[in-house]
Amino acid sequence: MCLPLICPAQFAADRMKKMPSRSTASRRSAASSVKSAASAPALDSQIAEIDALFTHAGLRRSRREKAAGVRSRARYQDKTPEDLRPAPAQTVRAANGVEWVPVPGWEKISWLWHGFSTRRSGVSTAYTGSGGAGELNLGFTADNAWENVLRNRELLAEAVTGSARAPIVTLKQIHSSVVVLADSASITPGCKGDGLMTDRPGVLLGVQTADCIPVLVADRRRKAVAAFHAGWRGTVKRIVESGIGRMRLEFGSRPEDLVAAIGPGNGPCCYAVGEEVLSEFTSQFAYAPEVFHEVYDSDSVKQKYPMLFLTQRAPGHSPIGPSLHLDLFEANRRQLLDAGLKAGNINVVGGCTSCQPELFFSHRASHGRAGRMLNVIGIRG
Ligand SMILES: [Zn+2]
Repeated sequence: MCLPLICPAQFAADRMKKMPSRSTASRRSAASSVKSAASAPALDSQIAEIDALFTHAGLRRSRREKAAGVRSRARYQDKTPEDLRPAPAQTVRAANGVEWVPVPGWEKISWLWHGFSTRRSGVSTAYTGSGGAGELNLGFTADNAWENVLRNRELLAEAVTGSARAPIVTLKQIHSSVVVLADSASITPGCKGDGLMTDRPGVLLGVQTADCIPVLVADRRRKAVAAFHAGWRGTVKRIVESGIGRMRLEFGSRPEDLVAAIGPGNGPCCYAVGEEVLSEFTSQFAYAPEVFHEVYDSDSVKQKYPMLFLTQRAPGHSPIGPSLHLDLFEANRRQLLDAGLKAGNINVVGGCTSCQPELFFSHRASHGRAGRMLNVIGIRG
């Protein structure tokens, strides 16, 4: 049988019109309580007032006694966004003003250049709004003049290596598991892939991100480096695991000699995904349940009255809980472990691009109109 969709709030309001026993003023008061409680958490007295209103309107049975959720997903970990928020990334400011994220401890590897960029400083104004300071967009996006992006890339190279002329090699990224050997200072224009590796000094390998996860790897013994771009599709295709395999083949790298850093990206606090992502991961990884979380909104009114906030969006895309969140930091850390790296040699630098839109470009937080960070690694020339 097909039942019409009825908004409980509207139903309650309609019922209230027919009930003379409660004054218009008190109904107004209750309605305004819903509004203010929705923006202020844990207001038990206001919830009690809403309970009373619903009882009065004959809707008591519509109230959930426990949090909304799909019980078949109970094996995934229940969290709130606050539980999952990573520590903020620690930035440094170069002499030319560029603010970037170094990997703690990697300054001791004297032959290594590396850095995760932020959006701060630079000459782009495409994403700042009117009157904003210049930003460090490092991707050749449609909104930004090429000469500004080229200048920004020089600024990043200068911040990381001391020379604005250090060449940066990048790929046309396609969310694949393709890893390209960069055996010269430039590669074929338009070359596609999501991983770069080299043992050639004087070249920076770069992967672009604006929510996806950048992973940098260095072989301390063989002096070789690699950079990987891991969104959810690339992670499912094991870009990092297969990339380490390519390093072993190409350079004779041993996993115990490798150090790796997982850079800023869309954190598990914010990265809501649909069921199709869950099924892709479940089909590929035995540990899939450990990298997904059921995330509940911390707003108590939304928790108790989910029907008031009902939407017809697909699972994982609704603003109220529970939604399914993917931890791509952990998923890629697991791939590094599976490739044989020691846990102590893997550094997750922290920082969520969605939570910190003032520091990072975020495709999701900017609704698709964002600049790009460039995450680089190289061997000192
Ligand atoms: Zn976040």
